[in-house]
Amino acid sequence: MVVTGYYNEARSGRGLYAHPGEECGIFGAVGHEEASFLNYYGLHALQHRGQESCGICSSYGGRFHHRRGMGLVKEVFTQEDLLSLPGIAAIGHVRYSTSGESHLVNAQPLIFRYRGGELAIATNGTLTNAPQLRAELEAEGSIFQTTSDTEVLAHLVARSRAETLEEDVFAALNRLDGAFAFLILTNEKLIAARDRHGFRPFSMGTMAPRGKLGVATVFASETCAFDAVGATFDREVEPGEMLVLDDQGNRESLQFAEPARRGICTMEYVYFARPDSDIDGINLHSARKRLGRRLAREALVEADVVTGVPDSSISAAIGYAEESRLPYEMGLIKNRYTGRTFIQPSQGLREQGVKMKLSAVRGVVEGKRVVMVDDSIVRGTTSLRIVRLLREAGAREVHVRISSPPFKNPCYFGIDTPSREELIASRLSVEEMRQAIGADSLHFLSARGMVEAIGRPECGSPDRGHCLGCFTNEYPADTYEAAGGQPRGGEEEER
Ligand code: 5GP
Ligand code: MG
Repeated sequence: MVVTGYYNEARSGRGLYAHPGEECGIFGAVGHEEASFLNYYGLHALQHRGQESCGICSSYGGRFHHRRGMGLVKEVFTQEDLLSLPGIAAIGHVRYSTSGESHLVNAQPLIFRYRGGELAIATNGTLTNAPQLRAELEAEGSIFQTTSDTEVLAHLVARSRAETLEEDVFAALNRLDGAFAFLILTNEKLIAARDRHGFRPFSMGTMAPRGKLGVATVFASETCAFDAVGATFDREVEPGEMLVLDDQGNRESLQFAEPARRGICTMEYVYFARPDSDIDGINLHSARKRLGRRLAREALVEADVVTGVPDSSISAAIGYAEESRLPYEMGLIKNRYTGRTFIQPSQGLREQGVKMKLSAVRGVVEGKRVVMVDDSIVRGTTSLRIVRLLREAGAREVHVRISSPPFKNPCYFGIDTPSREELIASRLSVEEMRQAIGADSLHFLSARGMVEAIGRPECGSPDRGHCLGCFTNEYPADTYEAAGGQPRGGEEEER
């Protein structure tokens, strides 16, 4: 199928690249009789990386079988759907989106037909030079169906005049800048590729042989998906690496670009990835606990209890409590059932105290000096709300501790961030932010403390291979900001 139609923002005149990218999750399997079922369970484990839409494409009998839909993996796929996606190779995608722009056309894998056959592509990342490449391709006569930067890759592949499809893909990848983890399915092969900086996490795993087939290979944005399908982590897809696998079990590794300065996204460690995932051998829950411990060393406060904000900052809050020898308490509870279809309270009901997502536990916080640990402050709305909740529940003092530095700059490498003006830390000093959220005190972890606490191996540079752009405004690669890759705004849904 060829995807047609334009994204909403293109029509609304906000510019083709008003929304340069989003945090997503990808999964792929080759050499397994139930490849689409593996995708289903793998994507389900990656659901935290994207809840807007999802899709799976399999290859069987020389053609593709695919299904994409709006919503969660468990809502989009039935058993019958998965049975209609036969074959021993399949790739899948979960897409993150904030408000609006909920269109099926955005759902991946995107599927393209070209002279060499069919191509399905699932991406996590942002191609920073997509606008330039697109302009160049259009000048040469290409007609684009979507505004997705993934389509740029498809055009580059289609226009390459190499001998084989792998060579076409290799040449195309070489031209891309930015952050990407790609899974590309053809009628015969599965290709995995990661950008030269290794911005986004991307791992390869294996599964024991079954039936006539040999060892199956799986790929996932996060290792928690391997646990979900019973696969064993093998290794990371290396920066600048392209892996080509066929259904005979052959695996070839090529280097399409020289590995450049490592730039793994620090927000993956701070917030995005699931606590049971590992990135470069570092478990996320343990890393977050160390962030919390370090935060306690940098910004101790006299208090009675420590609480986290479910679910994202619980690991850091436990670390803070351990280090400061204060009890960790469940001061906040999250309602798990606030889905997209939930009726949002009107402003009036909200003012009357109708709350949907979080509540404070009065018995825990009443009369207490509370340390509230969160992983980040982006717009400041979450902290403001929680400080208020805790006070309403009787907290005597509320001390806010953030297990990352002030988030001041937009991301150009695969995470949807609000525009710079909407980032509260880009406008206000720490003291002004403290006042704005109504806390008794507010402290952020230092960038150095964060990098040391995460504990990636020394690599000759003080940032240890992290991208710290959102905190320090220093990015490991060109952001192409001036060329129109403007970061997007829009409502963010806290998870
Ligand atoms: P704020 O309310 O300050 O805009 O956002 C901070 C809160 O949102 C934190 O509790 C953090 O866990 C969460 N958060 C941080 N980054 C992101 C993101 O990129 N997307 C979503 N949905 N939540 C985020
Ligand atoms: Mg949170």
